[in-house]
Parts: sequence; C-alpha cells; structure tokens
Amino acid sequence: MTSARSGSMLGELPLQANGTRQGFAGSVGSDPLQSVDPAVWALIHGDRERHTRTLNFIASENYTSQAVLECLSSHLNVKYAEGYPGARYYQGVGQVDDIEQLAIDRARELFGAEHANVQPYSGSPANMATYFALIQPGDTILGMDLSQGGHLTHGSPVSFSSKLFKAEHYSVDPGTELLDHDQVEAVAKRVQPRLIIAGASAYSRIIDWKAFRDIADRVGALLVADIAHIAGLVAAGVHPSPVPFADAVTTTTHKSLRGPRGALILCKAEHAKAIDRAVFPMLQGGPHLSAIAAKAVCFKEAMEPSFRVYQERVASNARALAEGLMRGGIQVVSGGTENHLLVIKLLDREYSGKAFARALERTGIITSFSTIPGDPRKPGVGSGVRFGTPAVTSRGADERQMQRVAEIIAAAAEDPTDEAALDRLRIEVEVIARELQSV
Ligand code: PLP
Repeated sequence: MTSARSGSMLGELPLQANGTRQGFAGSVGSDPLQSVDPAVWALIHGDRERHTRTLNFIASENYTSQAVLECLSSHLNVKYAEGYPGARYYQGVGQVDDIEQLAIDRARELFGAEHANVQPYSGSPANMATYFALIQPGDTILGMDLSQGGHLTHGSPVSFSSKLFKAEHYSVDPGTELLDHDQVEAVAKRVQPRLIIAGASAYSRIIDWKAFRDIADRVGALLVADIAHIAGLVAAGVHPSPVPFADAVTTTTHKSLRGPRGALILCKAEHAKAIDRAVFPMLQGGPHLSAIAAKAVCFKEAMEPSFRVYQERVASNARALAEGLMRGGIQVVSGGTENHLLVIKLLDREYSGKAFARALERTGIITSFSTIPGDPRKPGVGSGVRFGTPAVTSRGADERQMQRVAEIIAAAAEDPTDEAALDRLRIEVEVIARELQSV
C-alpha cells in the first residue's frame, strides 16, 4: 500500500565501473532502480498506476503491507542457509535462524498446528513436497477436478501431479454445484486413493473438512487440505480450519492471507520429518530468507484483531457483489458465496468467459476467466469469470461500492462488444477506484 518512501540508510549505491558496490547492497529503503534501469522502473510504475486506476477482482491477488514489502527488498536476499534452524549447511546464520524460527512459531500459533515448514517457494512446490512426503510415486491421489474448481496440482493431466501419481477426481453436484460428499465417498471407494486432496481454486462455499476426514478414514487414505485461497479467512476464523482434521495443510501466503509470494505447509507432528525432508533437500535448495521474514510479518499481522475485521469484510463484500450480480440478471455458480470469491456463469450468453473478462478489462474491472461445472466450452475460453474481493477490500472497498461494481458488470454483460459503452463504464470504474486507497 502507498506510504512515503523512506530514504536510504546509506544513500544510493551505484555499481562502480569494476562491478563492485560502493556500499551495502539492498539497504532497506534504497531505491536505485530509476537510475540503474529506467526501463524496468517505468514499467513497474506504469503497472502500479494501472492498479490504482482499476479495480482488482483477481481472487488470488492481494496488496500486502509495506512492512512485508520491506522484508522482501532487504539484504536478506543475499543469504544462503540450506537446512533448518539449528542445522544448517552454511555459516553466518545466527539471525536468519531466529527469523525462520519466529516464522515457524508464529505460523504454528496462528493456525494451531503441530508443525510448520515456512520454506516452500510457492503453492505448487508446497503441494509437490507434501505429496512426496506422504506417498510414493505411482500411488493414487484423489482431488477436485480442475474444471470444477480444483487446482492444477490436484491431479490435472498437464501437471506433475498426474505424471508422478495416478490422478483421480471428484466433482460438484451438477444440480446444486456444491460438493457432494456421497459422490466423493463413492469415487474414493472405487479408486482407493492413498491421498485425498480437499480444497480448491474456484469453489465459493464452506468446505466441510470433517466430512473429508471421515471419507479418508473410511478408505484408509491420508488427507491433505489445500487452503491456498482461503488461508486468510481460516486464520481469522471466518472459515472453519482444516488443521484438526488433515494430515497436512498447504497454503500460499500471498492470496487472502496477504503476505509475500510463497507458501507454508502445516502438518501433524508425526509427518514433520517427512515434510521437512521433502521440502529440503528433496525438492528445494536454499530457503528464500527475505520471503521467510516477510511471512513472519504476515503471520503477526494476521494475529491482529483488525485482520479478522478485514476478512469479515472480504466475505461480506463478496456476498454483496454476488447478490448485486444476481439482481442484475447474472447467474452465479452455486447461487452465491460464503468466502472471498464467486464465479459467474455465462451459459445463457453467446460469449465466453474469456471474451467477457476481456470486455471487463476495458472497463477497468480486472478478473480471470475460468471453466464452470459441466462447462460445454473449452478450458481455453471457459464459460465462467471468477471474482475475488481480497484486493479491493485491502484498498478499503465496502458493500455499497460492490453494489455499484455489480451494476457496471451487469451493464457490460448486455453487449461486451460495444466498445463505446465499455469506455463509458470505465469512467464509472475510475470514480470508484479513486475513492479507494492508492496502491
Ligand atoms: N493451490 C491452490 C488451491 C491454488 O489456487 C494455487 C494457485 O492459484 C496453488 C495451489 C499454487 O500456488 P502457486 O501459484 O503459488 O504455485
């Protein structure tokens, strides 16, 4: 978020002709980018301006705090520390051991978990490490189908998860578009998975973790909960936590949790060694200590009472948007939302999700297209558009503004090819964007 840029502790640090630095690389607050590389500087600032003038409804994006960003641009970028706190393959790790331990302790406290690994570079490697830790290549995994709202790493044909494991899928009920635990259990009994994955990228309802645990127990499978999207809601107690039920829980830290790009694995103590070994040395090398410091800050921020207020507002804004859209004649998958996202379905329209997402971009509403349950269109275009409220809520958006956005989306949906109409709607979007905090 915007704040006055603090001055460099040591001033500008240009590279000298011999390639060495005059001072301390990465001093907190130093900003030589504009002089070193005006082209990249201009592109970054242009993109920041784009964010400020538009409304970001991409469900997986969020604006993190300046404190988190400060960690990411700190000198910690320099450090190699393969291993774990107290057991490293490098020297000079006293402070970074403390940083990683702080991040681990805070993650455990925040989510009430027995063990935490804060090193995964991102959500996909976190899932890969978790599967490597818990099962063997060739074992059967059972996850939500990508076209129904699951993630690539839950067994998609194009992902490592189906190349290294035998991937099977469950779906939502075609009528209600809700998870149907009887159907999940029937599939589980048929395919006998070693591992069941609960969690999704585009499912807008509360997930019943205990129901998944019971199914896993009945077929003798392990249970992994992937809360990449809803981690902020879970941390704040606005969505039930899977931690008591799952053998392991994976999450990104950069979506609703509002931290740095990265991920986190939580697990029962019995799986701690296997998870740690799977992250390093099996899958990753040196941990990114700047990101780990930023995760520690993110977990601290998520323990503040204001974080719960924020997450409640994320959910109430999503509800207001869904209700406004339905009032405007737009269908919403499963008829609403209980979390931070919703997916509209365009089965009754002659244009695809991709075409509509492009039209919305012209109005300044930034989204991502997706498939919907039972989608007749190809995944490359889809019949859905996914909207999430974490980013606009971080900028201070409220339910009244969500209602206005819903009206703009409904107006755009009348004829997404009418560029003049879209350009007129863009003016209304900019008015709302100007009411919000800048990025
Ligand atoms: N799991 C889920 C449910 C996701 O939605 C995502 C990302 O969108 C991931 C895992 C992967 O995260 P990353 O993009 O950081 O690899």
